[in-house]
Amino acid sequence: MRWCWTFVVLSIATLACGRSSLVSVDVFFGDSGAPGPADPPYTETVTFANGLRLALTESPELTLTYPGASGNPFGATRTGHYQPVRFFIPLQSITLSHPLSENFVLSEFVGPTVERGGVWAYVDAQIADHVQRIRSGLGRPVILSSAFRAPEHNSVVGGASYSRHLYGDAVDIDVDQSRSDANTIGQEVFNEAMDVGVDFVLPLIDTSVDVSGQTRVSWVHIDDRGFR
Ligand SMILES: [Zn+2]
Repeated sequence: MRWCWTFVVLSIATLACGRSSLVSVDVFFGDSGAPGPADPPYTETVTFANGLRLALTESPELTLTYPGASGNPFGATRTGHYQPVRFFIPLQSITLSHPLSENFVLSEFVGPTVERGGVWAYVDAQIADHVQRIRSGLGRPVILSSAFRAPEHNSVVGGASYSRHLYGDAVDIDVDQSRSDANTIGQEVFNEAMDVGVDFVLPLIDTSVDVSGQTRVSWVHIDDRGFR
């Protein structure tokens, strides 16, 4: 029944807005159930755990900048998880303050892309749900320092060629490295991420920096790459 309702809303939106309006984008709420497995978006919509459903748009030019799936670091068994992203959220046609969950809005996942003038992004529903669960488990706000990165953006910041940030299912949770308890905070985030069941958490030693001779966690990288 709820899917029927969704189709009705979509039909009305299409009739009312037409397809010619530059600012028209199909945004509607429905009953999503739990987010599905975290693969790159091969469909034309993404539905978040709170029911927000966004219509995605193809950007062949951006897709062409993705590395070929066959070169992924895990070999032939993982090519399905590294297909170039085909469908993106059209950032210029959407309100960036849309809540994706209780405590997070879209802009928190795509802010760096927007700041660089990017107009396309992708946010995986499962990682958005997991970020919320981590935040709820911690019982305090967390800052997302990076989520989606287009290949060119990823290259500029020195990300790995096949970084999951390209595929929209990776998030870096910021840790204030100036704090003497940064490692404790990082470990708490790490533990929560493991508890909620994200596919991968980068070892903290790989996201630590030197602060006046002390090794301190600077961020926690988590992703839902779709395999473990
Ligand atoms: Zn990361």
